[in-house]
Amino acid sequence: MHKVYLGLGGNLGNKHNNFEKVLHIIEKVLGNITKASSIYESPPWGFESENNFWNQVLEIETELTPFELLSSTQEIEKQFGRKKSGFKYESREMDIDILYYDDIFMESETLTIPHPKMELRKFVLVPLNEIAPDFKHPLLRFTSFQMLENCKDTSIIFKLDNTNRYQ
Ligand code: ADP
Ligand code: MG
Repeated sequence: MHKVYLGLGGNLGNKHNNFEKVLHIIEKVLGNITKASSIYESPPWGFESENNFWNQVLEIETELTPFELLSSTQEIEKQFGRKKSGFKYESREMDIDILYYDDIFMESETLTIPHPKMELRKFVLVPLNEIAPDFKHPLLRFTSFQMLENCKDTSIIFKLDNTNRYQ
């Protein structure tokens, strides 16, 4: 059994429904969700859009290998209508990034773990720090808490409570 952290992000469609639905699909297809952060709202990072993102980090247990996990997460993204425009940063219904897979480090054309540049993104670090403050980045050797403290990203990340989630 492998411990994996996934970063979810989406800024299109009915975000409340999408974030509820994706958890069910993940449990069915990838494995048990052992921890889930709150959902956070953040401005688009690296591109302009009127639609803010929702972000959440999950800890799951899975039997899938890293590449099996990537193809399954990409299948799930497709179920949410995700189409690639070719641009690196873009609006999307559901983006699923593999942040950590146990404490492995791997680099290939299609899959790099830990997720590249995660330490620069507050929308990853804030929810990650909520559920795994002491987990150490296997290359940087910093905990989530330390990475968040060192992060220069100035975006404002709001934690959504149960009331404004339904707006
Ligand atoms: P981003 O998540 O950076 O906004 P995309 O979701 O469009 O961009 O992903 C682009 C590519 O990143 C995917 O086709 C995938 O092959 C690759 N990739 C590399 N490492 C990872 C990872 N750890 N998790 C998810 N995708 C990854
Ligand atoms: Mg992605």
